[in-house]
Amino acid sequence: MPGPLVEVADGIHVATSAVYATTSSVVVGGDGSCLLVDPSVTAREVAELSSAVRDRGWSPLAVWSTHDHWDHALDGPGLRDLPRWAAWVQRPSWVSAARADRDGDEELASYVRTHPGERGADLVDAPPAPPPLTDAAGPPGWVGVDWAGRRVLVLVHDAHAVGHSALHVPDVGALLAGDLLSDVEIPLLDTDATDPVGDYLATLDRIAALDDVRVVVPGHGAVGDAAELARRLAADRRYLERLVSEGATAQDPRLTTPWLVHAHHQQAAAIAR
Ligand SMILES: [Zn+2]
Repeated sequence: MPGPLVEVADGIHVATSAVYATTSSVVVGGDGSCLLVDPSVTAREVAELSSAVRDRGWSPLAVWSTHDHWDHALDGPGLRDLPRWAAWVQRPSWVSAARADRDGDEELASYVRTHPGERGADLVDAPPAPPPLTDAAGPPGWVGVDWAGRRVLVLVHDAHAVGHSALHVPDVGALLAGDLLSDVEIPLLDTDATDPVGDYLATLDRIAALDDVRVVVPGHGAVGDAAELARRLAADRRYLERLVSEGATAQDPRLTTPWLVHAHHQQAAAIAR
């Protein structure tokens, strides 16, 4: 498993992989059904996560993929027959492109080199379906998921990737943020978008408008509390403001690894075009 499953709020369990500190989350409903969010990263981790869920007696309703990057759309034994829910639409070339991204990923490759028998998990190859939604009122931009087990709200946005979803579980104030609000990664933009920084800032505003978040689970990095969410919102806005005004010279304490520095330079160049 990607590290042990840790209960970070009542019925919200998170496991963290050694690769990119990627989180896999389980949202357990009152009836024992559960949603598996972004199971990742290696084949062993995904298989162990799926066994742990079944060992605890939870029955997965669906696997939720927050966005279409390879490390958030993985598959494994015990998951293959489950519905796949996502707000992104799989392009015809997606599987081969995502597989190439996984196979070319240096962090994964370096982990696999030092852990014999490990490999990246398989990619989802069937197109995911849009999650069933309710029209129950939520905060602006958020809609309810049609699941009897527990009230879950979803925000679909285009920060980081087109059709990215964030999940909010209001009864415990848990926010599963996907690839936003990380303590270890700068905001990573969808540089193909017309207004990547605008999309990102608008999404941060939608999240900041929630007044009941007590636990934030980023797609990569450490789980934080309400104060940490406020700190990360401010840090992400500050980074984006500096990126716009200072370009590649903008500083951020999270720019600590070569791949993030590279991504930072790439997005500085993209928004300057
Ligand atoms: Zn991503």
